[in-house]
Amino acid sequence: MTNEEFAELLFPDIKHTPDYYEEKYPQRDLPDKAEVTRIGPSPTGFIHLGNLYSAMAGERLAHRSGGVFYLRIEDTDNKRKVEGAVESVISSLDYFNIQFDEGAEVDRQAGKVNYGPFYQRQRAEIYQTYVKDLVKRGLAYPCFCSEEELNAIRNEQSEEKVNDIGYYGKYAKCRNLSMEEAAERIKNGEPYSMRLRSQGIPGNTFKFKDEIMGEVSLPENIMDVVILKSDGIPTYHFAHAVDDHLMRTTTVIRGCEWLPSVPIHVELFNVLGFRRPKYAHTAQLMKIEDGKKRKLSKRKDPELSLGYYRELGYHPEAVRVYLLTILNSNFEEWYQKNPGVPIEEFKFSLNKMGVSGILFDLQKLDDISSNIISAKDREEVYEYFLKWMKQYKPESVPVYFGDPDKMGRIMDLCMGVGQKRRRKDFINCSQMFDFLSYFFDDIFTPEYEFGKYENMTEIIAEFKNTYDPNDDNQTWFNKLKAVADKFGYASDMKAYKAEPDKYKGNVSHIAEIIRVAVTGRKNTPDLWTIMQILGNDSCMKRLDKASEFLGR
Ligand code: GLU
Repeated sequence: MTNEEFAELLFPDIKHTPDYYEEKYPQRDLPDKAEVTRIGPSPTGFIHLGNLYSAMAGERLAHRSGGVFYLRIEDTDNKRKVEGAVESVISSLDYFNIQFDEGAEVDRQAGKVNYGPFYQRQRAEIYQTYVKDLVKRGLAYPCFCSEEELNAIRNEQSEEKVNDIGYYGKYAKCRNLSMEEAAERIKNGEPYSMRLRSQGIPGNTFKFKDEIMGEVSLPENIMDVVILKSDGIPTYHFAHAVDDHLMRTTTVIRGCEWLPSVPIHVELFNVLGFRRPKYAHTAQLMKIEDGKKRKLSKRKDPELSLGYYRELGYHPEAVRVYLLTILNSNFEEWYQKNPGVPIEEFKFSLNKMGVSGILFDLQKLDDISSNIISAKDREEVYEYFLKWMKQYKPESVPVYFGDPDKMGRIMDLCMGVGQKRRRKDFINCSQMFDFLSYFFDDIFTPEYEFGKYENMTEIIAEFKNTYDPNDDNQTWFNKLKAVADKFGYASDMKAYKAEPDKYKGNVSHIAEIIRVAVTGRKNTPDLWTIMQILGNDSCMKRLDKASEFLGR
């Protein structure tokens, strides 16, 4: 039996040869140096921050160079498929504004050629064509070993204490089956997978340049890895080689958990006669806990899930800026020096990416977020907050937004609109929701944080008597001073500082008492404005409520 005949027996339905696909999916017509990158999520769960980190690197690299960024659904593992996962990937990319030019589910095509299908399960025929060709060239063979047999081989290797555990050399039972014998077993209906006949030499190493990690030395692959499973669907390794070749990827950006598989991939590209893409393996995201760095974990760290940022209502722009901050070490400086310049203009590059343990710091994200929100138009923040609330707190929309004019004034105040400097009170929608709650009588449930001052009830009563909602800020403050004088608190700060023991406190303590009484909080934006927004009735009721609390 010849190799040709054997290949025909194995793949009778495959009529094309690799040349057909080489022609169907030609080199892309792109400018020099344009990069083609992709994100290849498996629909086995939800994409997380690590995926978004790599995706953003890919998207930036492609779009900065006039290239193409595409989405490929790596669904070869049907058993672990999760309903809705593809939709969730697309909606996450969309939400964080990671635009892909081609790919699954949507009618997106970057150029004249459609490089799809972009679902791997729809590409079975293509993979099989390439495996058939490998069989013709004696570089792939069927393997009939069952799970039990494979386990037995592994156990034998453990007992012999060999370095390499796996299917290779003398352990690769089916490698040396004659074609006749294999043909007989196939005719008898025995299930089989297809394996690579590895050409690697044990002990050989090769040098490999990773675009992020730099040069690494790796062992040559010696394993006869499975390339097609018994259902004719490829393994990740084989699908990666064929797809990234035919979709003309120039740089494969993926998590560093794939770095150990590079020897397999290099051999596959070699035996298939493909030009290898560049590789960029992204470092693991870490966090600091109890002074120690550790990997972010799906189980322990909600911040790894992208839903976390949406539910808390972080502005996608803040997440993008933060991701760029951890993606490229020179981004932060550029960002500070170029206020108002779209971040898309930053010259992103792979060689400025961290090579190990990227520290993910929520505090830093919060800082970035409050800066970004404070620089926005009030109308935009208003709309953004309203949209979030409709989705996540619909029952509270009438409370917060029932009086749009009031909400507008609140936002102006908390953002410092019209002030010398913008305020940075807002971080994300969930925090805004809590932060603003004291403005609404329906939900105002103060947990008073009064300090230890003398005559607080009397002070509140006196203030209440003299308060007039028509007073301007200065008159209002003068009245506070008068209250201070009346109760032995210094109305003049200089005098107080010179002889603090002479007084029970000073006018800022009076303001604090009133602030806590009216808002339940020790720190708020300008109190006079808050009282203007609340209106006289509400203020009076709140002052009474606080007195009652103090009198208890
Ligand atoms: N499907 C792979 C994963 O989800 C993608 C790896 C790659 O980008 O090549 O891990």
